Amino acid sequence: MSIHSKHAFLCSKKINLLNLNYCQLKKFMQNLGEKPFRAIQIMQWIYRYFCTDFYKMTNLNKTLQMKLNQHAYIASPVFLNPQYSCDGTIKWTVEIKSKFFETVYIPEKNRATLCVSSQFGCALKCHFCATGKIGFQGNLNLSEIIGQLWNVSKILNLKNSNKFPKITNVVFMGMGEPLLNFNNVVSALEIMLDKNGFQLSKNHLTISTAGIVPALNKLSQVIDISLAISLHAPNNQLRNLLMPINKKYNIDLLLNAVKQYLKKSTANRGYVTIEYVMLNNINDTLEHAKELVKLLKNIPNKVNLIPWNNFIGSNYVCSSKIKIIKFSKFLKDHGIFNTIRKNRGQDIYGACGQLIGQKNF
Ligand code: SAH
Repeated sequence: MSIHSKHAFLCSKKINLLNLNYCQLKKFMQNLGEKPFRAIQIMQWIYRYFCTDFYKMTNLNKTLQMKLNQHAYIASPVFLNPQYSCDGTIKWTVEIKSKFFETVYIPEKNRATLCVSSQFGCALKCHFCATGKIGFQGNLNLSEIIGQLWNVSKILNLKNSNKFPKITNVVFMGMGEPLLNFNNVVSALEIMLDKNGFQLSKNHLTISTAGIVPALNKLSQVIDISLAISLHAPNNQLRNLLMPINKKYNIDLLLNAVKQYLKKSTANRGYVTIEYVMLNNINDTLEHAKELVKLLKNIPNKVNLIPWNNFIGSNYVCSSKIKIIKFSKFLKDHGIFNTIRKNRGQDIYGACGQLIGQKNF
């Protein structure tokens, strides 16, 4: 970088360090005339110690602390007014310039999952999903994505209670289609995996996608994390009706891309999770189950059956418990391992497909 452009870089507005991945942070430090290892130290302060005050970063010298203070800051969106479900799930609705996204914390006994959003709303308009109904309003930037994990970890850390197990898993199953905000999502995943970041396992980081095939192909070139595919129908005719994206990337194209991804991936022991929402009399007969078995024959998979979550303005009905169990048993009897998703946080509209960024507080 020339002296001129370096100067321009430093003179520009203060930079939020939560918007930089490791490579970008290293470059930023170099532009400040610092050694690259400073990026590692700063990442540790941010992600391990939740420190936002450069003057408290005790292994940085005074000059560097001052320089950082002049050119940078560390801030994530503000998380106010959590909503508590009776099952322990907590949901935060975050407002940025009159747009909303949501983050859901789902505790288990000794671990917890954070369900993060990648976009304001969603462009894909899957018919059974409330987020699709509000349409696409924009991508979250990196600080808004990684800020969800950073903020919730910080808030729960402060509470310092056994009631809130540490976040061990992150799923991109909140608002938006993660593969349509590719660079920011990949950068956030890198920080989640990084040993100087959150040090999470690739087995516990999952992107759920409706199937943006070119982005899925690209994903396998840049990162290895666990994959969940929103299939929801065993044939193109039905999937076209439920998920308009299928008209662009049909089941064949999608499952081929999944196979290619799995060839390279070692996350989740080389298995893909197939998500299948249970819609009464739409996709839940034993004929559908039979088609699904055939379709998934050559793909290492686990199926996750998702009881459909209701939302106002939808005409779908969730399949009955008995039907879901029969469907599950049919899959099992035909060699397909499957689980039925426990829908957590329904009472606070925090379950799958219910996130619309309602400001109901
Ligand atoms: N855009 C991503 C993430 C969506 S949310 C994707 O399509 O995979 C995570 C899962 O919830 C997806 O499988 C999605 O299809 C499903 N889902 C959407 N609306 C739902 C609803 N009302 N009830 C149950 N699951 C729903």
